[in-house]
Amino acid sequence: MHEVSLVQGLISQVKEEARRHNATKVERVVVQIGPFSGVVLESFTFAFDALKKEEPLLAGAFLTIKTSKAIYKCTNCGKELEKEGGEEATSHQDAFTTHFSPLFQEIRCPECKEGLLYPSGGDEIILLRIEME
Ligand SMILES: [Zn+2]
Repeated sequence: MHEVSLVQGLISQVKEEARRHNATKVERVVVQIGPFSGVVLESFTFAFDALKKEEPLLAGAFLTIKTSKAIYKCTNCGKELEKEGGEEATSHQDAFTTHFSPLFQEIRCPECKEGLLYPSGGDEIILLRIEME
């Protein structure tokens, strides 16, 4: 489960930021995760909830994950198609994970109807914002 090491990295980034701002408490961490990052959001939030307990600074923090647009490209004509990402708050709203698994969708190109669309880009994990006091 590589989500755990990703979350560990995220948490140390947050701690560093919090220390720089002399924060006593982190209330929310907002990250952006690309739809093709390979991250299982459920595992990511689960790891966050588990690991934050070991950090007094983060113990009460919420995690908000924003997903960015998925971009598909046609294998035949090269047409690009964008699909909106969703947004998911903390806990276990698994609407995203169940209904949005772009890697396993087979989509025909709307332009030429020939090619198969394959994912292109959108594999980033970015720390967007930290709310703290
Ligand atoms: Zn096409």
